[in-house]
Amino acid sequence: MNFFTNIFKPKEQTYTIVLTVTSPNGFHLRPIASFVNETKKYSEEITLSSKEQRVDAKSINAILALTLVAGDRIELCVVGQEPQKTLYTLANFFEELMQTELQKYQLADIELDNNIIETAKIEKAIYSKQLLRGTSIYEGIVIAPLYRATLKIENKSNNLNFQEALQKSIQELDKLYESHKQSANASIYLAHKTLLEDQEIQNITTLDAFNIYIKKHIQSLQATSFDARRADYLDIQKLILAQLGQSSTLVLPDTPFILFADDLLPSEVAILAKSAVAGVVLKKSSLLSHSAILLKNFSITSVIIRDTIFPNDESILDASLGLLIPNPSQEDKDIAKDRIIKNQEIKHSADLKKFDKTINKNGKEVKILANITNLESAKEAKAQGADGVGLLRSEFIFQSKEPSLEEQTKVYRDIFKLFDTITIRTLDVGGDKELPYIKMAKEANPFLGIRGIRLFDSHPEILQTQMKAILRASKGKAIKIMFPMVSTPKEFINAKATTLRIAQKYKLKVDNVKFGIMIEVPSVIFQIDAFNDIVDFYSIGTNDLTQYLFAIERTHPTLHADPLSKVLFDVLELLYTKSTKPISICGEIASIPQASQRLLQIGFTSLSMAPAQIPLIKETIRNG
Ligand code: PEP
Ligand code: MG
Repeated sequence: MNFFTNIFKPKEQTYTIVLTVTSPNGFHLRPIASFVNETKKYSEEITLSSKEQRVDAKSINAILALTLVAGDRIELCVVGQEPQKTLYTLANFFEELMQTELQKYQLADIELDNNIIETAKIEKAIYSKQLLRGTSIYEGIVIAPLYRATLKIENKSNNLNFQEALQKSIQELDKLYESHKQSANASIYLAHKTLLEDQEIQNITTLDAFNIYIKKHIQSLQATSFDARRADYLDIQKLILAQLGQSSTLVLPDTPFILFADDLLPSEVAILAKSAVAGVVLKKSSLLSHSAILLKNFSITSVIIRDTIFPNDESILDASLGLLIPNPSQEDKDIAKDRIIKNQEIKHSADLKKFDKTINKNGKEVKILANITNLESAKEAKAQGADGVGLLRSEFIFQSKEPSLEEQTKVYRDIFKLFDTITIRTLDVGGDKELPYIKMAKEANPFLGIRGIRLFDSHPEILQTQMKAILRASKGKAIKIMFPMVSTPKEFINAKATTLRIAQKYKLKVDNVKFGIMIEVPSVIFQIDAFNDIVDFYSIGTNDLTQYLFAIERTHPTLHADPLSKVLFDVLELLYTKSTKPISICGEIASIPQASQRLLQIGFTSLSMAPAQIPLIKETIRNG
């Protein structure tokens, strides 16, 4: 959601809702005319704002001038004594218009349907047909009213100037970072603090100049479409404005509810976590956005659903299956209630058996490993019953400042001590992952630029220090070193050769080390025979592999590749069949309960995932 500047009027309240133009034809003349006729029925001040312009929602020409196309976000704002009712009615009217437009478009386009890419058929029909399908962020089943995210705007001006507000915001983020240091959320607070400490922002002296800065950055991101970072800019803007007395807060019911919104800012998810929220449905987010990561961290039942949704008195959110059932029948409610009870039993049993082996119904053992980022998450993985570490995302150890050789060695050693099976991935920066102290040349397409293993050439000192630290820390213990973003055998051969030279130079052991690659670039699929001759193991990074298979950025705000696409499963099957070396999966797909049976059917016996998912996936596989 975006912040909306309000002209304060005594006794009047300002409420706003963020809507998205979903019709492929945009918000064009005919739907605008219907919308304007509707708004004219109300006496309140009603405005629409988009692209930094605010217009009268009762003026057809003014809305036309916004040239709203599919994917554009608009804020509908109503000012009045009791504006909520009008706001909700108009928001519903708009959503209905968008849905009608979409249906017209689909009818016109029915001929093209044959080309639609099939989603892998891995979900059993459980509920009646009246359901909306999406992608699960965090599992759980809840029954509650569907409530649309609404913001209350307040303007209590104080005497702070911009610089004072900026420094107070930095202090606040610092406090949040310190108090959440043990949780994965800390990195988000740190990222925001680092953004505000950037010299360009530090040089700004007025709110107007800051707003121009934010606008400029968001616009430049729109060209490259890093949605996650867009939300970050909006969040720091919101923080500064709140310090200046201009706040926009989520209005939330105090009884259980399922919130739906296009997306949420990281700070809004934190507020939500303390509310009576039962579940969350996001429309425009992606599994890799900061809002999705936080929902998972706060264990909030949540899904991403692209369809148009309307508020109602009762819905089933079955995030374990990635489904929303608005206005369910009694029969569906009974099914959901049974599933809630069954899920509680499974959760209970999963927890009791989290340290046990995972044997499926056919007697096959599956290793459930953890994706970790630092010592804290390594300990969490241990506590959740991980059979080892399938992916240590080492770049997280490098986050705020460059760690020295000694610091790196110590943290790797401490992590290695905890597990018998451990795979450490070398620094994977580039694309959407930046480190403040690593200088990277500006690239038009960073996801296709200097990333992962390519840093061995572009930033050799950092990588050589890391290899030395890993070898020193392993000290004879069996470990696996994995290179990310490999696209040719030559890249692997060079990176391994560099590691062997370092071992020789510093007299460090390597015979305890296995070398492998992440499969996340499609070129590897067609060179698997050559890789079979040189690598010791593979781990498939389905997050990046999906992005590169469909040429859709994983953080894109409007384009989303289907995470359960049949294409992806076909590729996984092909890779499994052709590989002659141990092969596992460490992308998000490994932790989607709907996908686990299919992955086992293909033959995979090693899956790596976020620690919190481990007990449940183990139990899902046992119950297969
Ligand atoms: C992946 O790409 O699937 C993966 C596991 O790596 P990351 O998400 O860290 O890029
Ligand atoms: Mg990756």
